[in-house]
Amino acid sequence: MKHAMPLLPYTLEALDPLMSKETLDFHYGKHLQTYVDNLNRLIEGTPWEFLSLEEIIQKSDGGVFNNAAQAWNHTFFFQTLTSEQEEMPDNLKAKLTESFGSPEEFVQQFTKAATTLFGSGWVWLVADDKHQLSIVAESNAGNPLRDGLKPILVIDVWEHAYYIDFRNRRAEYIDAFWKLVDWKKVAERI
Ligand code: MN
Repeated sequence: MKHAMPLLPYTLEALDPLMSKETLDFHYGKHLQTYVDNLNRLIEGTPWEFLSLEEIIQKSDGGVFNNAAQAWNHTFFFQTLTSEQEEMPDNLKAKLTESFGSPEEFVQQFTKAATTLFGSGWVWLVADDKHQLSIVAESNAGNPLRDGLKPILVIDVWEHAYYIDFRNRRAEYIDAFWKLVDWKKVAERI
């Protein structure tokens, strides 16, 4: 099966200035495109060709895993952003309060994890099989599906995610990210 580029639920200009068109041109149009192209090239003519992206992530390693997980992670990341942020739905507020003390405390803990993750990676809000939420930091292409956890929200903290708009200032990128999160979509995953 050939893996396709996901569609964005907004235009490339829509998130500007919090996330510029130039950033999306590179991050979506070049970085993600390269992961998708590499994955398709690596799996052609192999048994991986017949598996879903999620199955590949759970079973592969090396280059196949890296490109499959990066394709999935970026798709999930981009599809959780919006130019028309609304207030956090009550069910999500309640769940975050149950797990972290309050929505604000969750944002603080997630921000800290994203700020302090060394090098390239992803910080996830995940649910376990008992519907308990937690924050998981993963290096490189790490994806919590491999640990049986359900992704709820993610931030990309690879430098390519913020270097065009914020240079080395990861903290400012994280602040901008919070203004772009589609809380309705996050709440639907709980
Ligand atoms: Mn990225």
